[in-house]
Amino acid sequence: MLTQAPKGTHDVTVKESYKWQYVEERIRKMTALCGLREIRTPTFEHTELFLRSVGNTTDVVQKEMYTFLDKGGRSITLKPEGTASVVRSFIESGMVSESMPAKMYYLTMPNFRYEKPQKGRLREFHQFGVEVFGASLPTEDAELIGMAWDLTHELGISGLQLHINSIGCPSCRAKYNQALKAYLAERRDGLCKNCRERMERNPMRVLDCKEKTCQQLTEDAPRMLDYLCEDCAKHFEGLKNALEAVQIPFTVDPGIVRGLDYYTRTVFEIIASLPEGELTVCGGGRYDNLIEEVGGPSLPGVGFGMGMERLLMVMELSGVEIPNPPMLDLYVASAGENARMAAFVLCKKLRALNIRCDMDHVGRSLKAQFKYADKCDASFAITIGDNELDARQIQLRDFSSHTELPFSLDDVAGIAAAIRGKVQNDQ
Ligand code: ATP
Ligand code: MG
Repeated sequence: MLTQAPKGTHDVTVKESYKWQYVEERIRKMTALCGLREIRTPTFEHTELFLRSVGNTTDVVQKEMYTFLDKGGRSITLKPEGTASVVRSFIESGMVSESMPAKMYYLTMPNFRYEKPQKGRLREFHQFGVEVFGASLPTEDAELIGMAWDLTHELGISGLQLHINSIGCPSCRAKYNQALKAYLAERRDGLCKNCRERMERNPMRVLDCKEKTCQQLTEDAPRMLDYLCEDCAKHFEGLKNALEAVQIPFTVDPGIVRGLDYYTRTVFEIIASLPEGELTVCGGGRYDNLIEEVGGPSLPGVGFGMGMERLLMVMELSGVEIPNPPMLDLYVASAGENARMAAFVLCKKLRALNIRCDMDHVGRSLKAQFKYADKCDASFAITIGDNELDARQIQLRDFSSHTELPFSLDDVAGIAAAIRGKVQNDQ
């Protein structure tokens, strides 16, 4: 128990963190190119926020939230998704009254859902997400979809599919809900218990049910696309045109309704086909009523969330090799106490010159220190013993060319320049 992480959690060990850093770096580059700034919100929020935004007929609210009373008797929930918090913060910080649109992203934000742990499904997972407030035109939806799409391709993932749909606005959805309810009522007995309840309050949720029988029963259900009002239909046309203009291939999939209630009009998913079945790597859409619903002004919004663990999993399955940079440029080996102190001073000075170096603090033999240096993938080594200290002269050993260069122990800039020249050449 003590040495076992809770079910559904995942450590990123020191041996794997370079993969996350690689992806995070690409994301930061891409978001900067698109004029997005980072937002960070707390790990927990008032439960009410998610009941209002995610919707209390969704799986997330009904089954998956980590909700508890804190010591002050407040109902608190660990964030099951990112958008609601970002919207809350956007309103609370007063950014609502600044110039629009407001474009932001969050990176490796922890989310918590009490789900049955399985491949690609954790209880604590992390998301990269983008939210844009105050832009209603479909080119914005296409811009966001393009960001997610381009990122997956830039990361070397192939074989992904983009599915898009429109779930309309409250006015056209009301008509659709009636038609869907009538369809479902005829098949009521075949639906799961959950869906029998949901079909009254929120019939579209039935289309998102994970139960096989419900999925089969809804295969021929009326499609929202056939009920879109003129404005919503025009918006969807605009989205398709914009995606075509930048050659992003998509499939219109009336089955995509998303697992959260706040969406309006555009919804999309980027799906990976794995031997075990399909896995959604990224999901998002438009939420034109959410900001107002949470207590802000009437402003449109659109966004997506990308599961980091799923992204990394799909990268691995696609055979993407993530470069693992060596840990150190230089290892400074030392023999004896005085030499160790000299190594300590040298490392401090070299690090100030951006040389990644380390030394022995264990009191190991020189042989054992070199073994360690090898494990750290160091390109260079310096050995300091009594002779080197007396002469204030060291040899900089280059492991790749098996050569040695003499330096004064005090010529820190010279040592740094020699290492940097080589390391930069190798990159
Ligand atoms: P699913 O249909 O797979 O349950 P969802 O609709 O619940 O997904 P969203 O709320 O849209 O998922 O979350 C956005 C992204 O976060 C998903 O596309 C996925 O990449 C990731 N994600 C969602 N739930 C989990 C989880 N339990 N473990 C790992 N990643 C997840
Ligand atoms: Mg889910």
